[in-house]
Amino acid sequence: MGRLVVGCVFGLALVAGLTPGGTAHATRAAASCSVSRKLPRPPADRPSYTLRVRMGGTLAEFSGSLAVSFAPSVATDRIVFRLWPNSPAFAGDARLTVGDVTAGGRRLATSRPNATTLVVSRAVRERENVKLSMTWKLRLSRRPGLALRGGRSARLVSFFPLLAWDGSGWATDAPLRRLGVWPTSPTADFDVRVTLPPRLRVLATGDEIRPGHWRARAVRDFALAIGAFDVVRTIIRAPAPVRVTVGLERGSFAPIQPFVADTRRALVAYARRFGDYPWPTYTLAVMSDFTSFDGFAYPTIGFVGDSSLVLVPHETAHQWFQSLVGNNQSRDPWLSEGLATWAQTGPEKSLATMLATPIPADVRDRLGEPVSFFDRLGFEKLRLGVYVQTVQALATLGDAQTVDCALRQFTVGNAYRTAIPRDLLDAFDDFFADAEARLRARGARF
Ligand SMILES: [Zn+2]
Repeated sequence: MGRLVVGCVFGLALVAGLTPGGTAHATRAAASCSVSRKLPRPPADRPSYTLRVRMGGTLAEFSGSLAVSFAPSVATDRIVFRLWPNSPAFAGDARLTVGDVTAGGRRLATSRPNATTLVVSRAVRERENVKLSMTWKLRLSRRPGLALRGGRSARLVSFFPLLAWDGSGWATDAPLRRLGVWPTSPTADFDVRVTLPPRLRVLATGDEIRPGHWRARAVRDFALAIGAFDVVRTIIRAPAPVRVTVGLERGSFAPIQPFVADTRRALVAYARRFGDYPWPTYTLAVMSDFTSFDGFAYPTIGFVGDSSLVLVPHETAHQWFQSLVGNNQSRDPWLSEGLATWAQTGPEKSLATMLATPIPADVRDRLGEPVSFFDRLGFEKLRLGVYVQTVQALATLGDAQTVDCALRQFTVGNAYRTAIPRDLLDAFDDFFADAEARLRARGARF
């Protein structure tokens, strides 16, 4: 869930809460951890999407086509796509529809068990490669603060029919009314052509190989920002060269350089702590329509409000904990939000502040609950019960440097996969004798 107000609180609190321990956090971890940072290769049989995106008369209407090839590792009797913009979290006024779904020129039967799920009746044998094509139409929500919005600019995230495969089956968790989550989707390749009026600029997942033509390799979603941006580009080593692009929406009064500096710092620090940054690009879209602190992360791209600089460490951390190592965020939000929050305590030097944060009784020792449990309680309870409580639970395992080392083993060992809590526990078990009991005590389930 990219959606988050968390960093503002910590970002402001940590100015008063600097600790010497926090300063040494990343550097000692780098010196003492013997787990290799080198990632495995992405799965060779990953899906491949060819996507066309055309803007309509306004920034609220888009249409296009989608072709996807998919070869499941186990046989399945159907193919499931998420139509995520139809989630109630997008206020009910966004709408994604699809035309006929075809394979090899033949039309396939489809059904819509609910607004966000498209089921295609096509059995697929183990490792059989099936190619499906369809057209799609998208109308964006105009409500402020949400991930999809048409106005002077637009953010398109999980905006097209997205395969719901988790590696062994279909993840069809119901969307939530209040809290936004990422749909579970497999690591894939994307070839995307975007057609827009010339006055508008695109910032997107992956690499623009020629004007309007984007490629992204080994990512689980493709997201873009459309608008008028001033752009700063820089190159970092994480440790391979990464071309970092920061785009600030025109008309914003915020200076762009702090966003560039904090993005650079976070990427370099996380690559040292958790494993190599796997992609050749990273992009941050800094946008001025957010009405409060807000941020979202998608593969190789982050979105933050222009008054939300403090969210940069958290959103950047999602490149390791959600983008690289995926999870079912509806069911196990602590695997992405909790671990991203643990990561941000490094650049923020906020570990002491988080450890001193009280957890309300109704979410105490419940860090393993699904997001649906928190949907009725609201974001602040989710923030405390999952984001902060995970940090507190990990800190009970041992020193921060060893926790980081175990997390590196988790990210490298589960890169490009959709992980479950047991995968995280397996990594912790190699470092801490009583990891399971300590995490269960705070509500984790394995
Ligand atoms: Zn987050």
